Amino acid sequence: MTVPDPVPVSTPVSTPASVSGPVAVVVPERPAVTFVVPCHNEEPVVEGTARALLALIAQQREIGRCGPASLVLFVDDGSTDRTWALIEQLTRDHPGRIAGLSLSRNVGHQHALLAGLSTAPGDVLISIDADLQDDLTVIPQMLDYYQQGHDIVYGVRAQRASDTRLKRMTAAGFYRLMRRLGVDVIDNHADYRLMSRRAVEILREFGEVNLFLRGLVRLIGLRSAQVFYDRGERTAGTTKYPMSRMLALALDGITSFSAVPLRLISMLGLLTSLFALAVSIWVLVVALTKPSAVPGWASTVLPITFIGGVQILSIGVLGEYIGKIYMETKHRPRFIVDRAVGLSDEGLQ
Ligand code: UDP
Ligand code: MG
Repeated sequence: MTVPDPVPVSTPVSTPASVSGPVAVVVPERPAVTFVVPCHNEEPVVEGTARALLALIAQQREIGRCGPASLVLFVDDGSTDRTWALIEQLTRDHPGRIAGLSLSRNVGHQHALLAGLSTAPGDVLISIDADLQDDLTVIPQMLDYYQQGHDIVYGVRAQRASDTRLKRMTAAGFYRLMRRLGVDVIDNHADYRLMSRRAVEILREFGEVNLFLRGLVRLIGLRSAQVFYDRGERTAGTTKYPMSRMLALALDGITSFSAVPLRLISMLGLLTSLFALAVSIWVLVVALTKPSAVPGWASTVLPITFIGGVQILSIGVLGEYIGKIYMETKHRPRFIVDRAVGLSDEGLQ
């Protein structure tokens, strides 16, 4: 098994060369494929999901698309039902082919997924929900793209027939808003994706707490491809993403990728100031030219409009600086080198 020399995780991010150190792009012929499956109270579905994924691995092994070290890693995200007991049982029934990771508490889908991706072995990691709503039949296509040298393959929903009208509309609005705010997201791609070992190691260098993985993975760049599928219904159980969680995720997505809302305050401040200026001129003209003007009127209205404008503009200026601080605190890698030619390793230090 030839794993492309991964970047050590402990390397400080402040040395960009460590993040970007080009590694040999070696695609193993029979890669060890690990499925990373986050589970929160998924008792009704884990066993069926394990069966389906094991069957898929066996079938792909037979035709040589994946190697013998392929496995399924279930991440139990603080379940309060029998999910973990079932996972433990599965690891006993299928040693070496099923593994489990139990988190100390419920940290949410995105963090559970990151925990799995950070821990999972393998040359190729495929993240997939426990309810198998995402169509497994596109996995061979994903693996083909990997063999062709793609580091990331996004599973994209071709249509959203299985969603409610409300979910479809809010999702479309969300993706439109994200793009308006300058965030690079792929429409209708959630967290069903293949990542090479190299891409996963880079993802681990992003140290942010407000996780919006589908946005972060776009920042990695590298060669990527998309496969399209129709999303089915949940095999069993109920959704763990009610509207409130969807909204929280959307808000995380916007606020951890865009400082545009802060800039909007500056704009608003500027507009209010201009408005205050116009009102001031008008108030002065009225006060000076119309003897009938109420005494004290100008001296009341003028400061109110003026101070209002100054205040919002000041908040906007503060926002500009906070925006900068916010971006700096992320310590995201500033660049990621895909490959380099004609350079020795020493030349890259
Ligand atoms: N999930 C998780 N932690 C949570 C909530 C959800 O690990 O706190 C997992 C869940 O078990 C499932 C995946 O995230 O594997 C997606 O959740 P779900 O299918 O309920 O979301 P939906 O498809 O309804 O948007
Ligand atoms: Mg689901």
